[in-house]
Amino acid sequence: MLKARLEHDAVYGRCLATAEAVQPGEIVVEELPFAYGPKRDSGIVCLGCYRYLQFGEDGDGDGDRCERCDWPLCGSCADDEETAAGGDHRGECEVFAKARVTFAGNVSEDGVCPQLDCITPLRLVEG
Ligand SMILES: [Zn+2]
Ligand SMILES: [Zn+2]
Repeated sequence: MLKARLEHDAVYGRCLATAEAVQPGEIVVEELPFAYGPKRDSGIVCLGCYRYLQFGEDGDGDGDRCERCDWPLCGSCADDEETAAGGDHRGECEVFAKARVTFAGNVSEDGVCPQLDCITPLRLVEG
């Protein structure tokens, strides 16, 4: 049973609040995500498992790039037979490879890679 409800807070806007007293560690709500992807203003992450990857200033990532499209993908995601190589990344991989959309690997001083901000919205529209 759902132990949470949507409320509207004057300061925070729409938010989820518990509908009754809950114990620490108790599950309040369980939902499947609509899409998986890097969060906004993220550093360079693997597009299959979202672990942070180390890329040099020249955009070189120790081989942590997808063989097909050249976007960030760690070695274990690239080799994962169970997810057919890349998992969540497969959708945009085909699009990027076909359109030759390259990954520059640029990271701002605060560690943000703005080029990855397109991934999650793109996954929503490619359905
Ligand atoms: Zn990975
Ligand atoms: Zn790829």
